[in-house]
Amino acid sequence: NRRVLLNSRPQGAPTPDNFRLETTDLPQPSEGQVLLRTVYLSLDPYMRGRMSDAPSYAPPVELGEVMVGGTVCRVEQSMHPDFVEGDWVLGYTGWQDYEVSDGKGLIPLGQELEHPSRSLGVLGMPGFTAYMGLLDIGQPKPGETVVVAAATGAVGAVVGQIAKLKGCRVVAVAGGPQKCKAGIEAFGFDECLDHYAPDFAEQLADACPDGIDVYFESVGGKVFDAVLPLLNVKARIPVCGLIAHYNDTKLPEGPDRLPLLMQTFLVRRIKAQGFIIFDDYGSRYGEFLAEMTPWVAEGKVKFIEDVVDGLDNAPNAFIGLLEGKNFGKLVVRVGEE
Ligand code: NDP
Repeated sequence: NRRVLLNSRPQGAPTPDNFRLETTDLPQPSEGQVLLRTVYLSLDPYMRGRMSDAPSYAPPVELGEVMVGGTVCRVEQSMHPDFVEGDWVLGYTGWQDYEVSDGKGLIPLGQELEHPSRSLGVLGMPGFTAYMGLLDIGQPKPGETVVVAAATGAVGAVVGQIAKLKGCRVVAVAGGPQKCKAGIEAFGFDECLDHYAPDFAEQLADACPDGIDVYFESVGGKVFDAVLPLLNVKARIPVCGLIAHYNDTKLPEGPDRLPLLMQTFLVRRIKAQGFIIFDDYGSRYGEFLAEMTPWVAEGKVKFIEDVVDGLDNAPNAFIGLLEGKNFGKLVVRVGEE
């Protein structure tokens, strides 16, 4: 049983030595328990927060503990009345090959599962985040302009496509020409702009001649700087993530722009609302699945997966996620299906 532990806390960007791979004996289930074997592990930006002991909405991973993470597993052995060998389950068993569970919190996915990794992406937590953040907080209306960053990623790609389904004009933002091409060709966004372009702010202004009605915030940094002057009266900002800042160790230097931000919010009556998906919307997961499952089956919502092979490659893949190296929803194939 291989497990990836938190070895040390990062200062700034995580490095490989923040992680440690160890091998232990196979855990044994007892009465009322199941032995789970990890097939896919989800790598997500929130894990950077768990590596740090700064106060957050969830407790940190302790040093020497297994890194947390969502997984799709198979039941290897069952001594639990609700599970049989071979069942697929969605769990939160972390960066390891095997885990023993008493069944609490496991979501059964049946005996046959054609596309297991989707339950970690478009049909899982990131898809749910996109769906609730955009529809409940963003409230997009036909004809409005929606801007979404990290637009080929797990959350952003779904946000942009739901906005299209709702009749909006979607101006997407992504890192580099290859991702921008996919934004238009694979996802059907009206525009997809490269945030690395030196004239990105001007390009965004040109692409949003009627201003911005919804900005789905996942990034912060210079993307938000370019968005702020373009926000319309009564614009909505679902504040989902700020990935450009997750490795920051202090506030940026420079003039204090807080008054500018608050003045813009006041004068244009802007609504910005943060949300933590399962804390705020956990009870609505079924509603999401009922609408998203047919959208995916009918090809109305498409997705790209970035599958990395092998648990030992998880640390580097995760480090790359915070640098934009992933192309699509990042998952690790830990074991055979
Ligand atoms: P993605 O699959 O989109 O991968 C992360 C992407 O973020 C990268 O590919 C890159 O895209 C972009 N990025 C990374 N570093 C930077 C940087 N320094 N500056 C600008 N862009 C950067 O991840 P997810 O879809 O899983 O997550 C997207 C966001 O949603 C994150 O902020 C995450 O924390 C948040 N989130 C929030 C949840 C909640 O409950 N509030 C739940 C789930 C996710 P590119 O190369 O295109 O710039």
